[in-house]
Amino acid sequence: MSSLPGTTGSARTLGIVLLVLIVLPLIFYSAFEISSLSEGEELMREIYRRQLDAILFSLNQHAWDVNSSWATQLDQSMGTGKVIPDTALQRFLERTPTLDAVVEMDSSARNVLNTVQPGGDATPLSNDEVVACTDTARTRLDALLRYRRLDYRKLEPFVLSQARNGDARIMILFARSLASGGEGFAGLVFRERRFIDLVIGPKIADVASGEFLVAVFRRGQDTAIIASGAVPPGAQFQRRDLWLFPGHEIGIRLLGATVDEAVRSRFKRNLLLIIALDLVLLGGAILIYRNVRAQMEFARLKSTFVSNVSHELRTPLALIRMYAETLEMGRLKDERKKQEYYETILRETDRLSHLVNTILNFSRMEAGKRPYKMKEVDLNDLLRGVMETYRLHFEQHGIRPVVELADVPATVQADPDAITEAIINLVDNAIKYGGTTKYCAVRTRVRSDATVLEVEDKGIGIAPEHQKKIFDVFYRVPAGLVHETKGSGLGLSLVRHIMNAHNGSVEVESAPGAGSTFRLVFPVGPATTRT
Ligand code: ADP
Repeated sequence: MSSLPGTTGSARTLGIVLLVLIVLPLIFYSAFEISSLSEGEELMREIYRRQLDAILFSLNQHAWDVNSSWATQLDQSMGTGKVIPDTALQRFLERTPTLDAVVEMDSSARNVLNTVQPGGDATPLSNDEVVACTDTARTRLDALLRYRRLDYRKLEPFVLSQARNGDARIMILFARSLASGGEGFAGLVFRERRFIDLVIGPKIADVASGEFLVAVFRRGQDTAIIASGAVPPGAQFQRRDLWLFPGHEIGIRLLGATVDEAVRSRFKRNLLLIIALDLVLLGGAILIYRNVRAQMEFARLKSTFVSNVSHELRTPLALIRMYAETLEMGRLKDERKKQEYYETILRETDRLSHLVNTILNFSRMEAGKRPYKMKEVDLNDLLRGVMETYRLHFEQHGIRPVVELADVPATVQADPDAITEAIINLVDNAIKYGGTTKYCAVRTRVRSDATVLEVEDKGIGIAPEHQKKIFDVFYRVPAGLVHETKGSGLGLSLVRHIMNAHNGSVEVESAPGAGSTFRLVFPVGPATTRT
C-alpha cells in the first residue's frame, strides 16, 4: 500500500513493536521448548525404562514369593523330627500340583535323606541326580547355611537335568534345621516349563493389563516361551534375568511400540503442537499488523480527504464571491465580461453542488440508505444526455469527445439517476486525468453476456498496483499530476457502489502514460436492487 512517509514510519514502528513483543519472545520460547523437548525425551525414556523395570522386578518377586511360601509349607510339613512324616508331605504335594518332588538332604548335601514324589506319572528322581547337581556348588550351599543361621531363608535354584525339549527340572534348595540339632537342606523340585505356565503365565497376563507385552525368553533367543500377547517379529524387549530360572529372561515392552517409538511420537506430537502454536501466534501478529496498518492508512486517507474537500469547497466559493461582488458593485461595463463572470459563477456552483452531492450520496450509500428506482433504461439515451450536459465542459477543456453508441438500444434495468451519476464521475475523471492529449471517447456495446458502457481517455493512466485500490474510499493515486488535481477520492467508490447495487461491475484497463478505459458492465438478466 502506498502511503505518506508518516504512515510508513508508524507502520514500521508498529512492526518493530510487534516483532519485539510477539515474534522475538515466540522465537526464544520455541527454541527453549524444542531444546527442552529433547531433554524431556531422554527423561521420558528413563522414566519408561524404570517403570518397565519395576514391573519386571515385581514378576521376579512374585516367582520368588510363590517358592518362598511353598518352602514355608514344606518346612512345616516336614516337621523337625528325624523321621519325616511322609503322609504330610504327600498331602503338601497334592496341594501343590506344580511340584514334581520334594527332597531332604543332610548338611553335606551328599546324602539324600528322603525323596517324596506324588503318585502317577511323575518322572522318578534318583538320589544321584540330586547329589550331582549340588556337587560343584559348595559355596552356594554354605551361603544358604549361613543365611539360615541368621534366621533368613534364602532360596537357591539348581538345574537338576536338561530334558530333551529344554524343559529342565529345577530344584529350589533352602537350608533348614533338623530336630537333631544339625542342619540340612530341603528342595522343591519342578519342571521349569510347568512353573512358567502355571505360576508366571497368569501373573504376566495380569500385569500386562492391555498396556504392555510381557514375555519369557531363553537367554539370547527371540522366540518367547510364553507371552501375554502375540509377539511381532523382530520386536525389541527390555529384558531382565529371571532370578529363579538360570538361562531365562523376562522381557517387557509397550504394546504396539517400543519405548523409543513412544517417546519419539510424543516428541513429534509436542513439536507439532509448538509449531501450531507458533503459527497461530504469528498469524495473529500478522493480522494485527495488517489491521492496524490498514486503519492507519484509512485515517491518513480520511485526513487527506478532509483537506482536499475543504480546498474543493473553498476555491469555487472564493471565485463565486469575488465575481458576485464585482457584479454587485456594478462597476463592470463590458457585457461580454459580465457574461463570462455569470458563466464562471454558474460553473463553480455546478462544481460545488456536484461535490456536495457526491459526499451526500456517498454517506447515504455507506449507511445503506440510498434507494434505487429500477426501470428499463437505454444506456444510449443516458449517455447522450450526459454528453449534452457536459458539452460546454468539454469545450472549455478543448476536448472534442468521440461518441460511439451501439446500433441497437442498450437496454438495462437500472436507476437512471444513479447511472448518470456514475457516468458523470467517469467522464469527469477522464477530463481531470486526461493530461494534454485532449481525448475522450464514450461507447456503449451490447454483447451477448452483458451490456457495457465505457469511457476512455489517453491521459496519465494508472499503474497496475493502484488499479484495484482506486475503487476504495478516499483512495487517490499518490503521485504525479494527481497531486495537482484535487478530488475527494470518493468518485470511483461511488461508481463501484452503484454498479454493485445493479448486480454489475466496474472494470478498469489502464497503463501509465497510455490512458485508461473504465467500463460499466451490466450482465444480461433481470437486475435486482441491492443497496
Ligand atoms: P478523485 O478523482 O476525486 O480523486 P476518484 O475516486 O474518482 O477520486 O478516483 C480515485 C483516483 O483514481 C484518482 O485520485 C486518480 O488517482 C485515479 N483515477 C481515476 N480516474 C482516472 C483516470 N481516468 N485516469 C487516471 N487516473 C484516474
